[in-house]
Amino acid sequence: MADSKALTTRAADFSAWYNEVIMRAELADYSPVRGCMVIRPNGYAIWEQMQRALDQMFKDTGHQNAYFPLFIPQSFLAREAEHVEGFAPETAVVTHGGGKELEEPLVVRPTSETIIYSMYAKWIQSYRDLPVLINQWANVVRWELRTRLFLRTTEFLWQEGHTAHATEEEAEAETRQMLNVYRTFMEDWMAMPVLTGLKTDSERFAGALRTYACEALMQDDRALQAGTSHNLGQNFARAFEVTFQTAEGSLDYVWSTSWGVSTRLVGGLIMTHSDDNGLVCPPKLAQYQVVIVPIHKTDEERATVLDAAQRTRGVLAAAGIRVHVDSREGVKPGAKYYEWEGRGVPFRLEIGPRDVAASSAMLARRTGGKKEPVPLDGLAERLHAEMNRMQIELLGGGGFVYGGFCGSGECEAQIKEQTKATIRVLPDPEFRSPTPPATCLWCGRPSAAEAVWAKAY
Ligand SMILES: [Zn+2]
Repeated sequence: MADSKALTTRAADFSAWYNEVIMRAELADYSPVRGCMVIRPNGYAIWEQMQRALDQMFKDTGHQNAYFPLFIPQSFLAREAEHVEGFAPETAVVTHGGGKELEEPLVVRPTSETIIYSMYAKWIQSYRDLPVLINQWANVVRWELRTRLFLRTTEFLWQEGHTAHATEEEAEAETRQMLNVYRTFMEDWMAMPVLTGLKTDSERFAGALRTYACEALMQDDRALQAGTSHNLGQNFARAFEVTFQTAEGSLDYVWSTSWGVSTRLVGGLIMTHSDDNGLVCPPKLAQYQVVIVPIHKTDEERATVLDAAQRTRGVLAAAGIRVHVDSREGVKPGAKYYEWEGRGVPFRLEIGPRDVAASSAMLARRTGGKKEPVPLDGLAERLHAEMNRMQIELLGGGGFVYGGFCGSGECEAQIKEQTKATIRVLPDPEFRSPTPPATCLWCGRPSAAEAVWAKAY
């Protein structure tokens, strides 16, 4: 059981608080290998909920899942110049197998563009083979020097979509579509407000034509890049000779995209919603949406109360609510409340002998407010409504810094050096100010675009 020491507060030390929330909720633990992370069942359950929701959204937009190997021939990475420059410094390389030195070293995938395009070159011949819309759920390895649980780990879990299209317009539409899928997921499921837009050249994915991102603002006013969608142009198609015969009979390179989100989202969820008492998890992604704590003194009370708790569990489960009865012996109700609070369970129902007699239960919300009695009759409908309300309440606002930007890399670099803030995105029209800024907020020259700055993870 987690220890009962109070957490460091967010105001005192946000970073210490973040780690303590994770430990108290038993979401993850440090591994014997530096920079790697063990995802514990409570944390993995959140990731599974995320996966299920996203996977359905990918399928609803026409994508299929596939799986590509973990090992990539080292020479593949070198075929796209920017790609190798961007990723080579952080790759793990296997030089021996079965006790023998390998003829060609193998890179443990940091991302899978190269191996996937080597296969697309075999599979795609004609415009009739397009589009190819594939996603893979996998782990990747990037040798990070400074790591944080969920936010930046040497190995992490993610999905990577890789699509190939006949035209530039189709590839751009796909890139934008998937950015929107991410935004919808982050807002509707994670209750995490995000803004979307274009990355500047210095923050672009290595090998991409354009990178779009979803940026979310954490409680300490630092931004988290929560998902990216890249229009790769024909860069990887050229590097891997992915050509197709067009409807007109000529030969062209395919236009491609890639897009991904990772277990970093779990870190984003923690930092967006949690409080000084521990994890706060939006109902839609919670492992258990409701925990029932039976309260009893005598054996007779115990039998009655447990029976009522199990019946209530059955009714709620039948209504599609993820519910758990904490019937552990030898743990006091107060200790149970404390534990489930730290784990972010949205709703707690306490059922004692008097509640059973009155056909009711005491309802407590993780996000505060008074505990109140609720009738068992109609409880599932009531809880569905409560969950919807909590989901919406959790979707609060964000405080990015908006300003004009002249477009020069020099200004961008100076701002980063002096304020530690980076341009998160050049926001999409719906996120722009009603009156666009006329001048660059740094140098005062005419503004070329509105930009959004924040310190970032
Ligand atoms: Zn400037």
